[in-house]
Amino acid sequence: MSPDDDPGPPVHGFETDAPLRSIAALSVHTSPLAPLGRGDSGGMNLYVRELSCQIATGGLSVDIFTRRSDPWTPETVELCPGVTVVSVAAGPPTALSKHDLFPLLPAFAAEVARYAARRGIRYDVVHAHYWLSGWVAHLLKHEWETPFVQMFHTTAHRKNAVARPDEQESALRLDIERRLTDLADSLIAANPDERDDLRDLQRTPTEKVCAIPPGVDLDLFRPLDRAACRADLGLSAEEPVILFVGRIDPIKGIDTLFEAMQRLVDTADPIPTLNLVGGETGPDGAPTGSLAGLGDLASEMGLAPRIRFVGSKPQDHLPRWYAAADVVAVPSRYESFGLVAVEAMACGTPVVASRTGGLAHTVEDGVSGLLVSVGDADALAHALGRVLGDPALRERLATGARAAAHRYAWPAVAAAIRHVYQRLANGHRARLCDEEEIFA
Ligand code: UDP
Repeated sequence: MSPDDDPGPPVHGFETDAPLRSIAALSVHTSPLAPLGRGDSGGMNLYVRELSCQIATGGLSVDIFTRRSDPWTPETVELCPGVTVVSVAAGPPTALSKHDLFPLLPAFAAEVARYAARRGIRYDVVHAHYWLSGWVAHLLKHEWETPFVQMFHTTAHRKNAVARPDEQESALRLDIERRLTDLADSLIAANPDERDDLRDLQRTPTEKVCAIPPGVDLDLFRPLDRAACRADLGLSAEEPVILFVGRIDPIKGIDTLFEAMQRLVDTADPIPTLNLVGGETGPDGAPTGSLAGLGDLASEMGLAPRIRFVGSKPQDHLPRWYAAADVVAVPSRYESFGLVAVEAMACGTPVVASRTGGLAHTVEDGVSGLLVSVGDADALAHALGRVLGDPALRERLATGARAAAHRYAWPAVAAAIRHVYQRLANGHRARLCDEEEIFA
């Protein structure tokens, strides 16, 4: 056997080559059925949904367990062929803050175990999303002995580095995340820097941490005719348009974008409009909930006439919003990956993004978009102004963006994850990451 064929050490003293049959995915605090762009629902919800459906096309069945947060959703809902969302009773069947869920995790784990026992299911691998689900996977491991894959979708460690004092993540989350880096059988990081971070957090750094990005639906996100999209959306054909898409959360850096807009109002001619997609709006179209605070801030800053609060939109509406824009701003303080940037790129709309996390890997400065320092409103305004004022630059970046986005096609991403599952299910705890790294 050549060293390249070495399968790595087995875990229990035996290896199998049994095919994968079923996967349990855990998404305790937020459901893949939730509408995107509202509350906590964003990239992770989409990821759980898309990955599961992709994996299931290969003949696997996936059960996604999420906490029941209303009394009416049926216990099981088929998300796509082979994928079932299971609502698990743990605590009251009402929406609860994710900060209140930790004490409910043992009850959640017990209910998941009961569900599997009732149906006689034996899962090959558990895939846990976010630290709360990771703790459930760890509890289930006592019951099932099933290997588990952990994805944090942003660690407290990374978040705290950019959070204001009143936004710091709890000591409990920090502690559990550190323990999970040792307890999990594999960890998936969304970018190579996070992979290194997770290795550093482990007591003994291991090879079980893989950098595998999320995928993007390249059939949905593709170039569309800009004029037609603007007409569809009721936007003027002429106005320069900046677009923001995402959850309304301090980590998204919308405050910096508003400051940059103030600079552009003073300097740009014509003055651009900012379309802000995400958050909740009332029946009259006015911002409500967390978006209302942004509406007030825009008024205080004299920006109200320049910002259109669109509210959250189903994902299949977004290609038109991306295509209608001249440039997409992703001013985040941190992004583990930053799906919005890659979706925009796939639609051929240039991106101006913060140089942080996954964005620093997906956007190549000057080639597939422009990168600016985190929180630097002057630099953001300058970069947005450059793209708006220079059609040749816009065209060049659009071409580079489309080419770059193709690296994140779902089939390659799902194959890399499946490889991890297969290795774990067959008893290996080494050489879990596919040789073919998607990140260059
Ligand atoms: N999204 C959406 N509708 C909205 C706002 C966002 O479908 O109104 C989707 C968007 O297309 C993207 C995801 O939510 O796929 C946000 O992912 P991202 O990685 O940018 O941010 P996260 O939510 O993970 O912080």
